[in-house]
Amino acid sequence: MSLNGKTAVVTGSNSGIGLGVAHALAGAGAKVVLNSFTDREEDHQLARDMAEKHGTDVRYIQGDMSKPAECRALIEKAGACDILVNNAGIQHVAPVEDFPAEKWDAIIAINLSASFHTIATAVPMMREAGWGRVINIASAHGLRASPYKAAYVAAKHGIVGLMKTVALETAKDPITVNAICPGYVLTPLVEAQIPDTAKEYDMSEDEVVEKVILAKQPSKEFATVEQIGGLALFLCSDAAEQITGQPIAVDGGWTAA
Ligand code: NAD
Repeated sequence: MSLNGKTAVVTGSNSGIGLGVAHALAGAGAKVVLNSFTDREEDHQLARDMAEKHGTDVRYIQGDMSKPAECRALIEKAGACDILVNNAGIQHVAPVEDFPAEKWDAIIAINLSASFHTIATAVPMMREAGWGRVINIASAHGLRASPYKAAYVAAKHGIVGLMKTVALETAKDPITVNAICPGYVLTPLVEAQIPDTAKEYDMSEDEVVEKVILAKQPSKEFATVEQIGGLALFLCSDAAEQITGQPIAVDGGWTAA
């Protein structure tokens, strides 16, 4: 499949799933805009390396997805946005009564509100271009809850609702809007929550992986960034033209239960 001539903006893409999705889209020939809140030499180097690897145009544009104006500016600076992947996300694990209010606000801003702002800016550009794909990286936690993740679960359920609403609003346009709902993927975001979860459950970190994290996933295996990238690519294909408004789980069977 060729995405030659299409521009993809992937938020939060200097690491983990976003980086994997960006590689998949660049590999199919899309021009890619990488993003995170940092503006380091290594971020720009990442873009140069990806461009060289796939022989396509890759830029890194700094933008803090906790700030509405920067979310909108990212899409404007990209100049075109045929494929929008809302991926930037953070996590914090704590019982609701101890959950810091500033963490709640940050998670809702980055994991939910940022997607409202990027979508609101990108959809008119997609209508103008006559083609568009919005892919939100939600989570199995957009479909199921787990204790100690109040803000994350609320934000991910919210993004599924936002996705369905915009899918209905764009149903007659040549635009699809979907959500990928991964189970656990071993990225820095998951690695970082293992110590806190170990504390909450009074377990060793190995026990957390086995008894808490992979306990949710009947396959007993992590999903991979390549698998998420492959699904994103499929959602950009002609075969996926009638798939819109769908949360698509990649979770080893977690949400089948
Ligand atoms: P990660 O920590 O590797 O990547 C998160 C990305 O978001 C990074 O590039 C980071 O720089 C970026 N980011 C964080 N704050 C930002 C901000 N304010 N502005 C711009 N960028 C920002 O984590 P990941 O696991 O790759 O997570 C990516 C997405 O996938 C998140 O939305 C996460 O909720 C979702 N997800 C992850 C898993 C998993 O198991 N890893 C499962 C389900 C859903």
